[in-house]
Amino acid sequence: MKIARDGKITKEMELVAKKEQVDVEFLRKGIAKGRIIVPKSNNRDIEPIGIGEGLLVKVNANLGSSKRVCDINEELEKAKIAVKYGADTIMDLSTGITEDDVKNIRKQILKEVKVPLGTVPIYQSALRALEKKGAIINFDEDDLFNVVEEQAKEGVDFFTIHVGVTKEIVNYLKDHPRTMGVVSRGGTFLAAWILENDLENPFNSNYDYLLEMAKEHDFTLSLGDGMRPGSIFDSTDYAQIQELVEISKLVKRAWSQNVQVMVEGPGHIPANEIERNIKIMKSLCNNAPFYVLGPLVTDIAPGYDHIVSAIGGVMAGMAGADYLCYVTPSEHLALPNKEEVKRGVIASKIAAHAVNIAKYGKRASDWDYKMDIARKNLDWEGMIKQSIDPELSREIHFRNGNVDDDDDVCSMCGEFCAIKILKDALDKKASKKIL
Ligand code: SF4
Repeated sequence: MKIARDGKITKEMELVAKKEQVDVEFLRKGIAKGRIIVPKSNNRDIEPIGIGEGLLVKVNANLGSSKRVCDINEELEKAKIAVKYGADTIMDLSTGITEDDVKNIRKQILKEVKVPLGTVPIYQSALRALEKKGAIINFDEDDLFNVVEEQAKEGVDFFTIHVGVTKEIVNYLKDHPRTMGVVSRGGTFLAAWILENDLENPFNSNYDYLLEMAKEHDFTLSLGDGMRPGSIFDSTDYAQIQELVEISKLVKRAWSQNVQVMVEGPGHIPANEIERNIKIMKSLCNNAPFYVLGPLVTDIAPGYDHIVSAIGGVMAGMAGADYLCYVTPSEHLALPNKEEVKRGVIASKIAAHAVNIAKYGKRASDWDYKMDIARKNLDWEGMIKQSIDPELSREIHFRNGNVDDDDDVCSMCGEFCAIKILKDALDKKASKKIL
């Protein structure tokens, strides 16, 4: 951010501008104003991406072990699958079984997956507190900041930190319970710590120190929404908006120190409230990049929450959200497996692509044009190649042996294929003209 404000262009800015098909000066100005971020640690060698105003909407995939399911190779494979199907970034949300497991998974992902990596460092602090001090919330300020520093040195590109979870908001919730309470893991750890110790959130009271660390290691801050609604009945309530007001102040303080920052948003939000949520955030936070978790437009579809969030993702993207966090079919039910990671990424990628076509036309829709030409030519290999999930397209087209490699129609209409009938008629007419 400092370099952009000094009017200089970096190699990273040039790469991002080229990929996005925007003028590099447009990108530089966006970074200088805080409206665009390039989340890349200076301790890591990856291809940079940009997130924010005027850039294509990006997709994040969460993965990571839990105390019940912990397999380093499996998580690494999930990360690779997520990138293969279009995730622009990965967040490692590992919590177990031991702190060493969490460290090992992160190190492997940093080494082998070449997209920006984000984490929620308080997870490791909580795990350390559990192992060394007997309870998740037995961490102290040093435990929190030491983990941030450790991960920053390793090259983590961006951190979700719930700086906006304040004592005032947590105390408000004591007297005004919500339908689902606090559903953010990091937000809950801090809320429980505040209640236990009757002290302010250490990330909030030592925010300047966090900004110093961000400057030193060039990591991007993602201001987590600890009060994101976990039920459509909690959406756009006092706790959510009060945290956003606090975050808006934190954004400006980060910018005053040349620290790149994005803002995380909800959550479970009915469709009619999505646009106003995005507009309020963009207005309060001076158009900082907005990263939405879903949003999920209904609570009744476990097993299909990737579709629920893709619907919300399109609406949020059209209203100005810049970055969609995927949701998998196993959300609210279990840790996702590899197939569920794939389906979650594809659902969010479709949502982001739909927004990108509507907002940026040809910058995104060239892909669709290639598919349409293959369809018009009944070029099945071409259609499969352009599919977001080529393996699935191939499997469906050729299933049951209803068509073979020589067929130019599919089993839907067979000889009644509308495209073929018109194509044959036009070819006949054209050949007569030539004769
Ligand atoms: S057979 Fe029917 S569904 Fe299949 S390509 Fe032709 S028109 Fe489309």
